[in-house]
Order: sequence, then structure tokens, then C-alpha cells
Amino acid sequence: MQFADLVADYERLEATSKRLEMRSILVDLFRKVPPAQLPSLVYLMQGELRPEFEGVELGVADSLAARAVAQATHTPEKTVSDSVRRTGDLGTTAEELLAKPSGRLGAEPLKVDEVYSELTRIAASSGEGSQELKIRILVELIARATPPEAKYIVRFALGKLRLGVREMTIVDALSAAFADAGKEARAAVEAAYNRSSDLGLVAEHVARHGLAGLREIKIEVGRPIRPMLAERALNLSDVLERMHGRTALEYKYDGLRVQAHIPSGGTVKLFSRRLDEISTQFPELVKELPTAIHRRPAIVEGECVPVDPETDELRPFQEVSRRRGRKHDLARLQEEVPVRLFLFDVLLDGPTVTVDEPFPERRKRLETLVKDTERVRLATQKIVESVPEAQRFFDEAIAAGCEGVMAKSLAAGSTYRAGARGFWWIKYKREYTHALADSIDGVVVGAFYGHGRRGGRYGALLLAVYNPDKDRFESFCKVGSGFDDATLDRLPAKLKPYEVKERPESVLTGLEPDVWFRPAVVMEVRGAELTLSPIHRAGVGLIRPDAGLALRFPRFTGRWRDDKDAANATTTKELLSLYRSQVRQISKSSGGEEPT
Ligand code: ATP
Repeated sequence: MQFADLVADYERLEATSKRLEMRSILVDLFRKVPPAQLPSLVYLMQGELRPEFEGVELGVADSLAARAVAQATHTPEKTVSDSVRRTGDLGTTAEELLAKPSGRLGAEPLKVDEVYSELTRIAASSGEGSQELKIRILVELIARATPPEAKYIVRFALGKLRLGVREMTIVDALSAAFADAGKEARAAVEAAYNRSSDLGLVAEHVARHGLAGLREIKIEVGRPIRPMLAERALNLSDVLERMHGRTALEYKYDGLRVQAHIPSGGTVKLFSRRLDEISTQFPELVKELPTAIHRRPAIVEGECVPVDPETDELRPFQEVSRRRGRKHDLARLQEEVPVRLFLFDVLLDGPTVTVDEPFPERRKRLETLVKDTERVRLATQKIVESVPEAQRFFDEAIAAGCEGVMAKSLAAGSTYRAGARGFWWIKYKREYTHALADSIDGVVVGAFYGHGRRGGRYGALLLAVYNPDKDRFESFCKVGSGFDDATLDRLPAKLKPYEVKERPESVLTGLEPDVWFRPAVVMEVRGAELTLSPIHRAGVGLIRPDAGLALRFPRFTGRWRDDKDAANATTTKELLSLYRSQVRQISKSSGGEEPT
């Protein structure tokens, strides 16, 4: 396939924010290429070269790419940087410079395969001389490209492709292209993705053999499974009611979710909640897991929590976050912030894939699989059948330093539902007893300049929740409290990579911030209550035609949710259920009516 044809589709995808239109562009594209080429096409579409969990990065810095553009277009570097200041995007600059008559060398048209393999060479080059090699490859690609091709090559190299195509739109398109557009086919494609986290692999299988081909995609050590997620409950009697009177309650540890892959031989891999590999950050767990897990291969899940080794007490979550994303000082941090992994599930046990077993069977397996070691333990669990019993366990969990309890269904259908949120797992946290049931993970979509003491910095951020049905981000608050000076100083640099000139199509709000951001950064906020507002657009029309949900007195908790991407933020539906539970609580105490 010619790269120019793919780029023409990129242009069309970028020009629309309508999911159906995107899907039909993708369906036509996917049907055009042979199955063997689909994986690279799908990865490229997501701005990647390999499935995201493999962490393959091009390692091209802005300055390096700018130098390549200058060389390829025979333009002084100063002219390139002046242009970037104006366009805000090196890709657009490359396109403009190449459009000038002197820009292009008139070479062989690029093929998709060729671009992919050259980009892969850039990613693979490391060590001495690699910067020069990266530049050389990039210069050759840009010099051969047409102006729009160059735009996308540069954006890709910088990790800023931003076609706006989400995973679930690709899932829709794959099922429509190679099976049918019905619900069942789509669910099968999504299930294959949830179990493999590799859309390229799913694409190739479904293209070759339709839905039957998906059954060949097995759970494998080294390939993360998308995590099962929990719903919330308002109180413990609600939990028990939903669980039909009997449930397994577990401590809800406040740390980092870890999926550990332990092969029969070879090294252990650890993946975060968003499936980034974090093995190097926790070498002590990598080392100790093969001792703690004595049947292999195995895939287990747990929460990694900071502990005080002297007293065995759990420490606050913030401490473990110091170990995320660190490449240096690992040994010192390991000493300073010792952690313990509390295991709560098993997805592969030797030769047996266990995800389709009901939870009680998986827990039994886990109990026979794990031998407690210093750093690896089983999550504390108790089967309860009454509210007072549940309350006692909850109090015990809080006293032990946990943030609440997780209730797990014991029903026959309590399989491990990869990638899905449902009432098979219910979280109930301590804060639920306060006015607003839970904290909210909002996506930063805009910023307002500060005044007075905050002059020259951002004064407040505009936050949105995610609405997966409409694939858009709906604003629910403007938050200016809870930021300390150091955070305020760092905010512009943290958000700069996501800055865009106009409101992104996928953002819905009645406010006009000074700066817009592409939805990417997620932060945790708390507030006094959820109210209806004519300005915010979260769930607009669901309760009243012209009002959305808004958080009163929002406050940043200090916790950036770097483990979540925008699509993992709190959803509109969750916000609505928080609103409803709050109204229900108020109406209970006042004897008022249930909400509509
Ligand atoms: P979510 O993961 O549901 O989107 P979140 O990341 O904001 O939400 P919480 O609302 O605090 O997290 O609750 C869910 C998380 O609790 C799980 O993803 C997991 O990391 C953690 N957790 C702690 N203890 C357990 C347990 N015993 N069983 C399952 N999960 C647990």
C-alpha cells in the first residue's frame, strides 16, 4: 500500500470527530490491505509501532526532529523554529516547508511498509551514534515524502499523531469489516482485545478467519490482560443487597495495581493498571515473585502498597507513587519506600487459564498458589452474610490502613471480566460516608490564567468526565483549590504537551478557558456535592434538558492519576450514579422523593 493512500485517510480521520464516520473510513481501509499488513496499520493508527504494553518508543526529541526537518527541506534551523512558534506543530511546519518548490527532491513514492520499517529502525537504534542514525533515517523519510506525508511522519516521530481514533472505534471497525456490525460480533472482537491488549493481533486474526480466528488468541504470559473494574455502592447494606446477601469482602489496599506475569523460566514482568511495563521500578518484586508463586507460568494480580517494615503497617499511597516512572536511584528508593504486593486474583495457573472460572474457585487456587514472603502476601478476605459482619470487617480494614473494602461476587457468573466494569466487584470506601460519595478522576481540558498571587501561572483548570457512548469529554468543574505553590509552578510544563489552539471537537463545555488541552491528563478531585448547572455539560439532558452535572467546591486531592489515560477517567454514567446516590441519601434523611 502506498503511504499517500494511508495519509489521505489520516486527513479524513482528523477532519471528523464523528465515531460513525471514523468507523466507515476505517472499515474501507482495513478491507483494502492484506491481513499480514493489518497489525502495523493498526499500531500506526494509534501512534505506536507495537502494542502499547511493549513500550517501544522512537526516542526522538523535539530538537532532533527539528534538525531533521531543517536538513531534509534545506532550511536554516532558525527558520524552522520560527515557523514552529507560529504553527505550534513541527509536522505542519514540515508540510509547509516541503510545499515550497525547493522542498522536495522528487523521489520514489513511499510505501506504508517502508515507512513502518524505517520508523522501527529509529526505535531500535540506541547507544553511541544513535542520535545521528535517527536523524539520518528521518531526513531520508522526510526528503522523500510529499508535504502531507511529511506532516504525519514528523508528528509520529514526536509521539503526537493524534488522529483522535480510540481503541473502541477500531474494535467497531474490525468487527464491521470482517464479521458483522451486530452486538455479538463486536463483543467477541472486544473480548479478544481485552484478553490480549493487542489490537494488531486481533485485527490480523479476525481478518484471516473471522470470529473463529479470535478463539485462537489465548492468554499468554508476557501479554497483559485488560483489568477487571469495580462499581461503587453507597453503603454496606447496598453492597450486600447487590450481592444477594453473601459476598467475599477484601481489604481495599490503596496503592498501585500490578499484574504480575511469572514465566516458567525467564524474568517476571509487571504491568500497571494502564498496562505499562513497570518491572524495572520494582526489582524486589520481580526477584521475589518466583519464590512466592510456586506453580508456573502464572499471571496474578494485586495491589502494591508502601509498608513500614519495622511495624508491618501500611503507609500512605503517595509514597509508592514516588517509585513510579523512576529510572535512577532505584536502589535507594527501594530502601526508602519498601513495598508489599497483596495478591487478590489469579488469571493463569500453570497450564490452566482461570479467567472463566468463578471467583471462589480462583481464590481457592490463589490460596494454594501463594506462599507468603516478606514482600508478597495474599489479600485479606472474609466471606460475610450480614451488615454487622461486613461493618466489622470494614472497620478492621480501615484500622489496618486500607481505604475501604472490595466486595466480590461469589455467584456462578463471577468470572474475570477483563476490561469491564460491573457489579461483580463493588468498591466501598471510607469517604463514602462523607457528603459526596467518592473522589472523581477528571480529565484536564482547559486552563484559566491566574491573577494576583497566581499571576503568570494558571489559576484554575477545567475538568471533564468521559462519556464513552458519545466518545466525548463533558465538563463538570473548574478547580482552583488544593494546589500548592510547587504544583502551580509545574502546571504549565506538565500540560504544555497537550496544548491545542482550539477547543477539541470531543470536548463539550459552556466555558471558554484561556488555554485548551487535548484530553490526556487525569487528576483526582473531591467536592462538597454534585449539582445541576447551566454551564457544565456532564450528562447534559439526562436529568434536565439544558443542565449538566457540576461539582461544587472542587478541590485537587494532590493525586495525579498518571496510571489512567483520558478514556479511563470517571465516566458520565458514574457521575450520574454519584449524583443519584447523593440525592437518594438526602431524600432518605428528609423523607423526600427519589430522584428521576
Ligand atoms: P477503577 O480502577 O475502578 O477505575 P480507581 O483506579 O480510581 O478506579 P479505586 O476506585 O480506588 O481505583 O478502586 C479500584 C482499585 O482498587 C483497583 O483497580 C485496584 O487497584 C484496587 N484494589 C485494592 N485492593 C483490591 C482488592 N482486594 N481487589 C481488587 N482491587 C483492589
